[in-house]
Amino acid sequence: MYDCHVHSSFSGDSNMDPEIAINTAAKFGLKGISFTDHLDIDYPNYDDVFMIDFDKYSEAMDRLKRDYSSKIKVFKGIEVGIQPHVIDESNDIVKNMISILLLAQFIL
Ligand SMILES: [Zn+2]
Repeated sequence: MYDCHVHSSFSGDSNMDPEIAINTAAKFGLKGISFTDHLDIDYPNYDDVFMIDFDKYSEAMDRLKRDYSSKIKVFKGIEVGIQPHVIDESNDIVKNMISILLLAQFIL
């Protein structure tokens, strides 16, 4: 079983350390966990709470994926909130990640 929708402290709505989430998932026998932290540019009435430092997030997820590879599969995802006026900006941030997301889906 995989948990394919987990938010970590990289999201504005979570304080969970991703390593705690990974260890907990492994403890309960999950085969994989996918982080899907938020990217919501110009989210109404919340300033930049759902903006993500994508480079920092990406580096952390790549490291966790490597560090826990013998224990559990770790996938790097992102949950993008789309509004018509931010589509281009959102695409610019995640465009290098699309192949990773597709690859993760094929692995599943
Ligand atoms: Zn979510």
